[in-house]
Amino acid sequence: MASRYRPRVPPARFATDTSLEFLARRLRFLGYDVVTHRGARLEELFEAARGEGRTVLTLSRRHPRRFADVPAITVARADPEGALRSLAAAYEPAGAPFTRCPACNGALQRRQRIEASGEVPGRVLRGAAPLRYCADCGKWYWEGSHTARLREWLGRALGRPLPAEEAEGGPTR
Ligand SMILES: [Zn+2]
Repeated sequence: MASRYRPRVPPARFATDTSLEFLARRLRFLGYDVVTHRGARLEELFEAARGEGRTVLTLSRRHPRRFADVPAITVARADPEGALRSLAAAYEPAGAPFTRCPACNGALQRRQRIEASGEVPGRVLRGAAPLRYCADCGKWYWEGSHTARLREWLGRALGRPLPAEEAEGGPTR
């Protein structure tokens, strides 16, 4: 009897447009490599995805014939939680949670507190939350009350809680 088990495939890289930015940001938070092509029409999105070896994430059911070789996944606008759950079940993330910039998809770097002086609120500097920096867009990240709701959403979508972030003092680069 055929198993319903579907083996996971190697880390996937995705390309999408701004219509799916809500989902893209949450995927990046989980460690998925998702590039957003702002203002791209569907054909331009497929063209870019082909050039970068990415899978298209789109709301459109249309798959232009000349891009038949480019893999694409149609996402239902009304069900971002379901979309996240099925993508997470089928694809490995490119990295651990909290390692990509949710805003721009850049790789986040662990930074020392002294480097964040003047860049993040004083209470964050005095706290213990690990600090990460996106060299691509200059944003700082740390775990705090503002990420609690996002974690809650992701936990509900995945049907399991997200692992706690590695404590300060862990391996750094
Ligand atoms: Zn960034």
